[in-house]
Amino acid sequence: MDLGLRDKVAVITGGSRGIGYAIAEGLAGEGVHLVICGRNEEDVNNASERIMKQYGVRVSGVKADVTRIEDINSLVFRVEKDFGGADILINNAGTGSAEKIMEAADDRWQYYWELHVMAAVRLSRALIPFMRKRKEGVIINNASICAKQPLDYEPIYNTTKAALVMFSKCLSNEVIKDNIRVNCVNPGLIMTPDWKKTASLVGKEKGITPEEYLEQLAVENAPIGRFATPGELAHFFVFLCSPRASYCVGSTYYVDGGWLRVVV
Ligand code: NDP
Repeated sequence: MDLGLRDKVAVITGGSRGIGYAIAEGLAGEGVHLVICGRNEEDVNNASERIMKQYGVRVSGVKADVTRIEDINSLVFRVEKDFGGADILINNAGTGSAEKIMEAADDRWQYYWELHVMAAVRLSRALIPFMRKRKEGVIINNASICAKQPLDYEPIYNTTKAALVMFSKCLSNEVIKDNIRVNCVNPGLIMTPDWKKTASLVGKEKGITPEEYLEQLAVENAPIGRFATPGELAHFFVFLCSPRASYCVGSTYYVDGGWLRVVV
């Protein structure tokens, strides 16, 4: 099926590994040119090289920490310089937290607010004018099932991801008149380097191997009984980016193997 995405330009934050990288590959496979960013320059450059070689699209890799306004500005500068703007924005960069509300200081709240919410606000504000000129655009925010169904050990993550879901809805209402579709995705358990890092820490505390911890987690939580691969999730993002999803507006979609325990 031709998804009608050839020669579009997508900006993906956190595109150097995990879910962001899988989305980058999925879009590149449809002929989309990319700007990807991450904090580690070597990882970003390696990821860009791999995608260019494999898919023959243009990829600009930018070292940028999306919690820093000056880095957001240089990312946007590169988008304009290399491609004259963008058609698609995927706000994906993010990570889990670990704290108790009664112990976490303000700076931890502030950091995750910048990472999960303000990065999406700032990049949307900067890139929407280009989309308006092109008379169409797509923005997808990658939140989490934790925005609706919190995990006990990461209240700051749960809260800031919930804010990202609401931001998506509000932005959608504001820009659909410009033919810009904003949606949000709430993934469940996706096997990425972030989980492998968590598993080695928590597994050690519980006296089990990282693999045992991840297996237990999937069996106990997701009715499907396993993690998804990043590629399985990326298929859904690619569809949402495409004109085939033309009536998908202002929604939050769960891709979670059945983990969400309520009907929404
Ligand atoms: P990974 O840690 O595997 O990858 C994260 C990516 O984001 C990397 O490219 C990383 O590069 C980049 N990144 C992290 N912080 C920043 C920053 N401040 N500025 C720019 N780039 C940054 O994570 P996942 O792929 O697992 O997660 C991606 C998103 O999906 C996150 O928002 C996460 O909350 C969400 N999610 C993940 C789930 C899962 O099960 N994996 C489930 C639900 C939601 P670098 O470190 O070099 O900056």
